[in-house]
Amino acid sequence: MTTYPVSPNTVLANALKHAEDVLTPRVLDVAPDRIVFVVGTQINGAPHIGTSLVQSLTFAVAARIRDKFGVPTEVRFGALDNAPYAIVTDQKSGHRYQQSYAHALGEQGVVEQVDKLYRPLFAALSERLHVPYSVETYSQQQAGEHFRRTWLLALPRMDAARWWLAPSSGVAHLRVPCPRPACGWAEKHAERTHVRHVSAERATVSAVCMHHGEYEVTIDPDGGGYLDLATLYRNLIKELAVTSRRGALYVMVKGGDWVFGSQLVDGALQALGLTCGQLPARLFCPMILSDTGAKLSKSLIREGRATLPEGAAPWMLDTRDWPGSLPEYIDKLLNTAEVVLSDPRHFFRSYSAGELGRMMTSPAARSVPAP
Ligand SMILES: [Zn+2]
Repeated sequence: MTTYPVSPNTVLANALKHAEDVLTPRVLDVAPDRIVFVVGTQINGAPHIGTSLVQSLTFAVAARIRDKFGVPTEVRFGALDNAPYAIVTDQKSGHRYQQSYAHALGEQGVVEQVDKLYRPLFAALSERLHVPYSVETYSQQQAGEHFRRTWLLALPRMDAARWWLAPSSGVAHLRVPCPRPACGWAEKHAERTHVRHVSAERATVSAVCMHHGEYEVTIDPDGGGYLDLATLYRNLIKELAVTSRRGALYVMVKGGDWVFGSQLVDGALQALGLTCGQLPARLFCPMILSDTGAKLSKSLIREGRATLPEGAAPWMLDTRDWPGSLPEYIDKLLNTAEVVLSDPRHFFRSYSAGELGRMMTSPAARSVPAP
């Protein structure tokens, strides 16, 4: 009998019986009392199928790991509301300025966006697989004392890490949006942003607003000033913050496109003194690809620079367009997750949009035990 999908063997798949076994050495090493699966998404519009797939796989793997090791697992959803909402060029300096979703929509607006676009899927996945979840926006995370102390502690040692975070320039960007009410613009590339480490409890950051001129923001553990970090820098601090937590094992779940960038984050973590065993566990999920083999990109299609791949449907770019109910969508997603997890060969690979569309809509896709 033929099975579907068909996936080639790889070195990693060949070494495993089940995809989630890739986490076993870390679980045995840490012997955690709980395992937290961390999955982040930029809050910039409706989710596409790649996002939904990673999120459903996160819950599915969390359930399998819980059952395998008898350790409670949970999912933490990081809602990246520091994603740019608007980008403009300042006429005077010629520098690019950005305003984040958090600053454009406000805290309440972001909460509503998350409740509308993400929470129904998370709540349903959580209920179906009995895995609890929580949501944290980046704004909440950066305001937290532990995150700020972690950054303040890392700051004097950034000389060791900065070439990992920015191999081309050696400048790891951070932004402090203008604190004036109803402003919140920040220089995208932080050309005129300067950080001064004052003490273990305090740093000051000076910057220039395109509307309000020079300003200075104090960052201390209690939460004054908004600390926005460039992507790799943010991951460094976020992961440093969780590795200092005792008792829990954190698993960073990401799309496969992060395989390459994570090498730099791992380098930065080790430059700051972490040993290999202290690095967070990572799980890279399958990517959804266009016909060219590039990642399916909603923004490229929207900008007219790429076309909807063959066999793909509009709902794959905006999952609100799924032609059915949410429970049906979740059934299909979980069925697809089961298929993908049924054999390591199906997990450690990517899927074209057309193939994933077939797996989501045809009844032929089914789980098969690993040979
Ligand atoms: Zn301003």
